Amino acid sequence: MSVIDEVLAANEIYSRTHELRRLTPRPERKLAVLTCMDTRLAILTLGLNTGDAHIIRNAGGIVTDDSLRSLLVSHYLLGTEEFMVINHTDCGLMHTNEQDLRTRIQNRAGTAAIAPAFFYAFQNIDENVRHQLQKLRSHPWIPQSVTIRGFVYDVTSGRLREIKDY
Ligand SMILES: [Zn+2]
Repeated sequence: MSVIDEVLAANEIYSRTHELRRLTPRPERKLAVLTCMDTRLAILTLGLNTGDAHIIRNAGGIVTDDSLRSLLVSHYLLGTEEFMVINHTDCGLMHTNEQDLRTRIQNRAGTAAIAPAFFYAFQNIDENVRHQLQKLRSHPWIPQSVTIRGFVYDVTSGRLREIKDY
């Protein structure tokens, strides 16, 4: 049985009670979190429940065209008022660089590819968080009224550390 088959079996059991049926699409606590897809980050570490917030995830927790799209939908269509950007220590994108990663994948796959244009590898995590904040703060469609704050999550201690960009 593959993991997907296991998930399907678990979903069959879940659907018998469907506890989350009561939730609405609008985040209860009007929060959107942009963070890495890393396994060690979870709503549990943020004291959130399912339904409290939008959790937008990609490799690194990077403001890309697509995560920006999600944040705009989150605010304008679904009412979130606070954006939290979280990068984390020991991120896979810190142990590489753009060219290395591209070359490694290209060699494994045996072919070149036109996309993705960037992997957004980074060296300095504080600086990387600041860059994401700057991308959000400078965007003309994100109003001043939206609170934007950035953090580094330490996977060893489990703590968030705020990164100020002003
Ligand atoms: Zn990561």
